[in-house]
Amino acid sequence: MVGAWTLAATHAATVRIDTSKSPALKTWADSVLPIANEWYPRLGNLLASSEGHRLLDVTIRINPDFKGIAAASGPYIEISTDWITRHPEDSRGAVIHELVHVVQEYPPGQAGWLTEGIADYFRYAIYEALPLAEFPRPEKPQGYLDSYKVAAGFFFWLECGPAPGIVRQLNADLRSGKYQETLFTERTGRGLRDLWNDYLTALRPLPDLPREPRIWRHAKGSFEFQPNGTWTEFENGKPVWKFIEMARTPQYIEILDRPRNIRLRLTSPMVQLISKTGWATLYTGEWTAPPSTKQLTK
Ligand SMILES: [Zn+2]
Repeated sequence: MVGAWTLAATHAATVRIDTSKSPALKTWADSVLPIANEWYPRLGNLLASSEGHRLLDVTIRINPDFKGIAAASGPYIEISTDWITRHPEDSRGAVIHELVHVVQEYPPGQAGWLTEGIADYFRYAIYEALPLAEFPRPEKPQGYLDSYKVAAGFFFWLECGPAPGIVRQLNADLRSGKYQETLFTERTGRGLRDLWNDYLTALRPLPDLPREPRIWRHAKGSFEFQPNGTWTEFENGKPVWKFIEMARTPQYIEILDRPRNIRLRLTSPMVQLISKTGWATLYTGEWTAPPSTKQLTK
């Protein structure tokens, strides 16, 4: 009966939205509240670092006098009435970002680029499911210090390949005040600055590719690159799955099928499954020359 007692005693943390100062945003609040209440405990689970870490009930105040965009302090979030009115399409993601801050509970003095990068990682990569290629990647040393969405894309790339689980580990280290940059080297064998360069290199498109199709034929069909940036798998001449390109090196191209969360690596001579279940070779085959211009325009 211990389990039943634990369940009964567990307090489900909730989010409420106070629109008393901005009654015109009541409809907006009614549409955001279910999302906030679904995602707040989920973010709590994703960022749990110890047993029994309890989430506080959150109050989101929609404030016509707030000068910034949004800010979190303890279990309170303030969001500008004017900003929501002008940016309704961004406002849900901003709520997710601020809810991450409530969950983080880091002691003062932690690196701001990590705190904001983790908040935007959960907003854009997890909640909005933005493809990796759409994160901004400034071509400069230590570009991750641009924080927010830039650092979020960098974490997303690390999670997708070099260091799965690193966001959770960063969060735990920041929360306990033990974070050190050596964490990146311990996890990957590469320093933080080198990893940033690896990220830029991996995502840098080959200059000629977007303009011409490319085909990788395997035993059951083919993967074909479309100039819009997606890859399509064909079987018996029919398209069966669409993939988004995740990373590219001179040796391989990595593609993701988001609905199935399957990640494949097109290499020569193999297609490898590199999803959570590990590495497995699926097919063998080879790159073939793209069709000539004559064939395309026929
Ligand atoms: Zn923030």
